[in-house]
This record gives sequence, C-alpha cells and structure tokens, in this order.
Amino acid sequence: MERLGNGPKAGIEAGRLTAADYEANFADLHPRLDRHEALVESDRCYFCYDAPCMTACPTSIDIPLFIRQIQTGNPLGSAKTIFDQNILGGMCARVCPTETLCEQACVRNTAEDKPVEIGKLQRYATDIAMEQGRQFYSRKAPTGKTIAVVGAGPAGLAAAHRLAMHGHSVVILEAREKAGGLNEYGIATYKAVDDFAAREVDYVTAIGGIEIRNGQALGRDFSLSDLTAQYDAVFLGMGLAGVNGLGIEGEALAGVEDAVDFIAALRQAKDKSVLPIGRRVVVLGGGMTAIDAAIQSKLLGAEEVTICYRRGKENMNASPYEQDLATANGVIIRHWLAPKSIIGKDGTVAGIEVEYTAIRDGRLIGTGETGVIAADQIFKAIGQTFSASGLGALQFEKGKIVVDAEGRTSIEGVWAGGDCIGTGEDLTVSAVAQGRDAAESIAKALAAAGQPATAVA
Ligand SMILES: Cc1cc2nc3c(=O)[nH]c(=O)nc-3n(C[C@H](O)[C@H](O)[C@H](O)COP(=O)(O)OP(=O)(O)OC[C@H]3O[C@@H](n4cnc5c(N)ncnc54)[C@H](O)[C@@H]3O)c2cc1C
Ligand code: SF4
Repeated sequence: MERLGNGPKAGIEAGRLTAADYEANFADLHPRLDRHEALVESDRCYFCYDAPCMTACPTSIDIPLFIRQIQTGNPLGSAKTIFDQNILGGMCARVCPTETLCEQACVRNTAEDKPVEIGKLQRYATDIAMEQGRQFYSRKAPTGKTIAVVGAGPAGLAAAHRLAMHGHSVVILEAREKAGGLNEYGIATYKAVDDFAAREVDYVTAIGGIEIRNGQALGRDFSLSDLTAQYDAVFLGMGLAGVNGLGIEGEALAGVEDAVDFIAALRQAKDKSVLPIGRRVVVLGGGMTAIDAAIQSKLLGAEEVTICYRRGKENMNASPYEQDLATANGVIIRHWLAPKSIIGKDGTVAGIEVEYTAIRDGRLIGTGETGVIAADQIFKAIGQTFSASGLGALQFEKGKIVVDAEGRTSIEGVWAGGDCIGTGEDLTVSAVAQGRDAAESIAKALAAAGQPATAVA
C-alpha cells in the first residue's frame, strides 16, 4: 500500500529512529549520584536501631551502617559493608525493586515524607569501589575441594564467590556464551548500561579460584550424576530457561515472539538501529518481563504499545513503580483481557482477538465478550518455566527444585538456589541471597565431613 504521510511505517521495521534518539532512549535510567548528592541523601537517614530497611533486604545488608559510612566520607568502607552481604550489590543497586523492599520499609516512607534513596546510595558506594578495582576479600588457604556450579547467573556467581572465599575451587558450567545469567541477557538495557553485567562478573571472579566454562549445558553435555561423581559438591543455579506458550490459534505466525528472546537480542545488540520493531505492538503478561518488553518496544520506536493482562492492576507482578514507568513511556496497560486467537494476514500477525475476563466464585473466567486489537508484533511474557534434563531422581514440586532452608536438595551433596527453586522469588537479590547461603551450607558440610584444609603449596 502506498504511504500517504510521514508517519511510522506499518509492519516490523528496523531503524525507526535516529542514532541520537536510540542513544537518548537507552541511556542510564538513574545515573549515579555525585558526591554532594550522596552526602545530602545520606544525611536524611535516621540510622535507625533495628532498622526495618535492613530486615526488608533479602540479603540483610547493614543499610544504616553503609549510609553512615557514605555520610562520613568513606564510600569504600560503605561498599565493603554492602559486598559483605551481597557481592552483586552493584547490580542489585540498579535493578532491585527498592520501592517494594528496603525503601518501602524505610521509616521516612510516609504521606508527608519520602523514603531515603537506599538503592541510589548503594550504587554510589559500589560504583566507586568497582571503578577503583578495590577487592575486599582474599581466599582462605586452598582446601583441595572443588565444587561444580551449574549456571553463571546471580545465584551461581554469589555461590561461587562465597565458596572461593572459603578456599574452595569452583568450576562454573554455563550453557550460554556469556556469564551473568539474566543480568547479561534479561535486565532492561537502561538499567545496566556500559556492559555493567560483564564488568561485574569480572569483579566477582577476580577473587580467584573460579573457572567459568561456557557452552556447557546440563542435560546435553553432562548429567547431574556426572557432577556428583567428579566434584565434592554441586550447586544448581540454572534459573528458568523455558517459557510458557499461549496454546491459541495463530501462535506460530511470523511476528509472535517470546519477550525474553526479544529482550536478550536487545541486550546483546551494540547497535539498536538494526533491531526490527512493530508499529503496533501487543505484549501479553503482567510481570517485569512484560513491562520491560513494552517499554523497550516504545524506546525502539513502536508507535503504539499495549500490555494486555488477564487480571486487575493490583494482581500484576510488576510493581506499581514499574507500571508507572511503563505508562510514563507511553505504554497503554489494559486489564481483564485474555488472548483468544492471533489474527494473521499473509502469514504474519495482523491483530489479536482478546476476551474480557472477570472473577466469578473466586475463579478467573472469560465473559464471552471479545474485541480485536490491531498489531503487527506480539510478545509473549506469560511466565518462565524450569527446563533441564539429566537431573536423575532430583525432587521437584510445581516444576521447581525442592530445597530445605539451607538450599539442600533431595540428593546428598547437591544444593540449589535462585529462580529454579520452589522458594525462589524471581528477583536478582533473592537469587544472590540463596546462592550465598547455599555456599555457606556447602562449606559447613565439607568442613564437617572432617577433611582437613590443605596448606598452600
Ligand atoms: C526480562 C526480565 C527482567 C527482569 N528484571 C528484573 C529486575 O529489574 N529486577 C530484579 O530484581 N529481577 C529481575 N528479573 C528477575 C531476575 O533476573 C532473576 O530473578 C535472576 O536473574 C535469577 O537468577 P538465577 O541465577 O537464579 O537465574 P538466571 O539469571 O536465569 O541464571 C541462570 C543461568 O543458568 C544458565 N543455565 C540454564 N540452564 C542451564 C543448563 N542446563 N546448563 C548450564 N547452564 C544453564 C543460564 O544460561 C543462566 O546463565 C527479571 C527477569 C526477566 C526475565
Ligand atoms: S529505615 Fe530509613 S531512616 Fe531508618 S535506617 Fe533505614 S534508610 Fe535510614
């Protein structure tokens, strides 16, 4: 069809924006505070006794202490306080939904006031330490023990670092080409600019004793029983590598994609202008992935982006802050709509038929009332699933690995943490906490097995 005006082209097109637009759109969401800003913000903290912000942090960082250290002009001491509990404190400062964790719990979070900006202060301190290459930890004398860690995401990296501190050697077996897990392939581009995920992997592994082997997939290249036979202990931190399907007509049409694949391609693209994006995009889902896919579609130049979620606003997994960020970027969020079929034209997506939903007797039902939203690209963000084979008799519940309070699985000598376990909260910071705690449990178990530490050669 001949185009009549200068408006955006229909279909899925690359290069919708100018180079300057791409650069501005994908710039750092919250640039680092400068020294003066950090001092002013740290001065707002009451340094509470029994601080509720600290209790709300899954890694239990001593928040009043690290803020006090910034206030007294000691950012490196502050960074050490953070890293003592959370070696990925730099990424967590960028991606944690602080508005539902520490900052929500802050005593200054009242109608008349606002919480202390804990996340921004954490970034200030950790950035200074990382930029100066300051390492705060050294390895204990080598124990002669080697632990296999499957997956180089936040859980695996946190576990590896803590095990290395105890003097153990660690081999991380990672399926993908790069380490970092979703920090490298999932987190929104504007939250982790300047290759921060890769720089953080280098910072974490600089302690020594950690070898990362990329392109090694459990279930394809080795099995769990291979690992238990070869290593002194195993930590599983594989995250959720699979995605849910819609199971509706039209799902195979060109233009229907998994949001996580779209986001991964975006994260890996050095030049955003090569990424094709629809003029009208529909994103299905209500979590962080849906929000990130929608916002980044807008930032790539999509004219109209609509999130369809089958329940109400209050049921969305994405925090109110993330929802507001989406609407501030021009994304339309529509609730109580479920996908019914995808409409195609000439083999590609032309729209989506949706059905209105409601809660009846406590159950979500389709009301029978339908409508059509025009779209040339549809992203599915309806949840990730555990996907790995070669796990033998490992016990699962609701598709995730069963662990006890220390991260021990049903198989002796095997621990797990992060998104792949039943108690995983699908947050970077929780994965870090679980990796770290499982490592402590592994170190305790190996010490209890009565193996004396070997002296350094
Ligand atoms: C799009 C998106 C955006 C998100 N945004 C945020 C956010 O802003 N803030 C936040 O707190 N959380 C966010 N999350 C959630 C957060 O990224 C995860 O909770 C966190 O990464 C979990 O860490 P993990 O180590 O358990 O798993 P992952 O980060 O998934 O890492 C698992 C690693 O294991 C590897 N692996 C998988 N299978 C195998 C195998 N068979 N063999 C070997 N290796 C394997 C993977 O390649 C990967 O490197 C987001 C998630 C997504 C999908
Ligand atoms: S709750 Fe708020 S004011 Fe109190 S220590 Fe934590 S950040 Fe400071």
